[in-house]
Amino acid sequence: MKRILIVAIVVCIGARCEQRQDRFQSPRERMVQTQIVDRGVRDTSTLRAMRTVPRHEFVPLEWRGNAYDDSPLPIGYDQTISQPYIVAFMTEVIKPRKGQRVLEIGTGSGYQAAVLAEIVDTVCTVELLPELAASSAERLKHLGYRNVVVRQGDGYLGWPEYAPYDAIIVTAAADVIPKPLIEQLKDGGIMVIPVGSLEIVQSLTLVKKLGKEVTTETVLPVRFVPLVHPR
Ligand code: SAH
Repeated sequence: MKRILIVAIVVCIGARCEQRQDRFQSPRERMVQTQIVDRGVRDTSTLRAMRTVPRHEFVPLEWRGNAYDDSPLPIGYDQTISQPYIVAFMTEVIKPRKGQRVLEIGTGSGYQAAVLAEIVDTVCTVELLPELAASSAERLKHLGYRNVVVRQGDGYLGWPEYAPYDAIIVTAAADVIPKPLIEQLKDGGIMVIPVGSLEIVQSLTLVKKLGKEVTTETVLPVRFVPLVHPR
């Protein structure tokens, strides 16, 4: 009798957990279909990652109900988590694969890092604000992302210790393409970075490195918070 009772309680708790997980599953599925697939993102690993990562865990409690909306959201400290479509677009465009190491500049909430971590082997991510670096590291750990390393520092300098990277993704707008990031890119590597000032529309720019040659190509007008030069 006692054993039956214990089993019943365990089953009950399990069901409640699942219910909690499922609460956001249909808005998440709808987000992927209407905001991402319908706008042309096709890479299967990107779509799988967008369907998997619980975006509501990366936004402040008061914004949880809007976590799957078609927009960026505030994450505190005047920073934002990017619009889901932009996250998916930037992920697809760097062609992430298993076995790769990717550098992200601008950890913010940790959402983009989690999306990448679903696909590649290691994500190294740099955040300037100590509070956000600490909270995103804690969140990623809590959610079980053991292949992400977070560092507080100036992203203009990259993260030389783990270089070279197969790909680099910058999620704040830089006034110039930082030289250290080009140096830390693998031969044959690719970087996606918004370039331009806050006042005008910025250009999402693809940077490819092949031997000594570096090519750039703009792919999308975007608006990001600035990549700040720390004093
Ligand atoms: N990728 C994030 C959103 C990034 S918002 C997410 O998925 O939630 C841009 C982030 O870049 C902010 O958190 C901001 O603090 C950070 N940032 C600004 N300047 C920086 C710099 N020089 N180095 C590293 N991070 C910087």
